[in-house]
Amino acid sequence: MPGFELFSDLERKEVNDVLDNGVLMRYGFDGMRNGHWKARELEFELSESFGSKHVQLVSSGTAAVSVALAAAGVGAGDEVIMPTFTFVASFEAIMMLGAIPVLVDIDDTLTLDPKAVETAITDKTKAVMVVQMCGSMGNMDALSDICRKHNLIFIEDACQAIGGTYKGKPLGSIADLGCFSFDFVKTITCGEGGAVVTNNIDYYRNADHFSDHGHDHIGSDRGAETHPFLGYNFRISELHAAVGLAQVRRLPEFIAIQKKNYTILRDALSEIPEVTFRTVPKGGEESYAFLNFFLPDLETARKVSTGFKENGVDVCWNYYDNNWHYIRKWNHFKDLKSLYPISPEVKNGLEYLKTKSFEQSDHFIGRNISCLIKLSWTEEEIRDRAAKMKKIIQGLV
Ligand SMILES: *Cc1c(COP(=O)(O)O)cnc(C)c1O
Repeated sequence: MPGFELFSDLERKEVNDVLDNGVLMRYGFDGMRNGHWKARELEFELSESFGSKHVQLVSSGTAAVSVALAAAGVGAGDEVIMPTFTFVASFEAIMMLGAIPVLVDIDDTLTLDPKAVETAITDKTKAVMVVQMCGSMGNMDALSDICRKHNLIFIEDACQAIGGTYKGKPLGSIADLGCFSFDFVKTITCGEGGAVVTNNIDYYRNADHFSDHGHDHIGSDRGAETHPFLGYNFRISELHAAVGLAQVRRLPEFIAIQKKNYTILRDALSEIPEVTFRTVPKGGEESYAFLNFFLPDLETARKVSTGFKENGVDVCWNYYDNNWHYIRKWNHFKDLKSLYPISPEVKNGLEYLKTKSFEQSDHFIGRNISCLIKLSWTEEEIRDRAAKMKKIIQGLV
């Protein structure tokens, strides 16, 4: 997955364009910048790549989720449904706006279970956020239908599934608003960066203004711009956008490499009857950024995970015991360890976390192993890795 593995002269050239004229900011300084508008160009390229009419670059994927929610009017006291298996950014972004994260179970897609979503809807629910974890996706038709039926905003976090598709549409472009991260370990990277994509002009305009202090971006004098509403600073810099511009042009190449490497590993593990794979919804094609498989039970998955570590098979995780991606170890969230007071509304809204258990999620995450697919492996390295993984698993099942 990490696009940084294949950094080349293409990235260096784009960055040098920016350094040569010295304009590190994406707005203004028209005379100085010698025609270089890296953030603007990257927005155009992303719009082409992801088939979305509008793209707003921001400073991170976490910022993208916050800006997407704000652009759609999610705020104080609103409930946002999100999965138990995701990155901490999901609840951080929701809570930044004073809204309440409502966590629900995942299914064998490793993303939101539509049935769990429907059960969790209350009169406070404002949005549903699907997180396309580890290169694949949720059942987008079922989730879209639920959102339409209940008049909810549908948000798609595609940070980990850049380049995957559902029924021919790029992941990130299917819901009302999509979010991408271009942090250092994502399939295409800016170092730090993110994007909100949408076909809705109002959401786009809101995201554009909100991510730059509410500036209306009319005319060419920043000092004279008006502020139709309150905003914040989630801007990306030209240097970061320059790196992303070189990377996005290489996305088809990166996806092809991921697919090739993924297929070699998958074919090897497919020969083990006890190994099964995550369900990819009908019409979906993964980005091949990760290979996810299930073992018969938690105990076997833990043993395999340890076996991998002891035998030098890196970048594979059993997320059940991981601090970053699964509810089980998010004690700072469950205990509301905050530097500043949290509103009573959010506090009350999160009471359920003290008692609620997520057996269905445990059932899938406990048995799952998720392996990152690297871009820089040689074919020999992948074949060795595949043989090693197969041998370790066969010795433990
Ligand atoms: C990486 C990631 C984010 C956040 O991205 P940053 O750019 O690191 O803030 C959000 N959601 C998911 C699923 C991610 O993997």
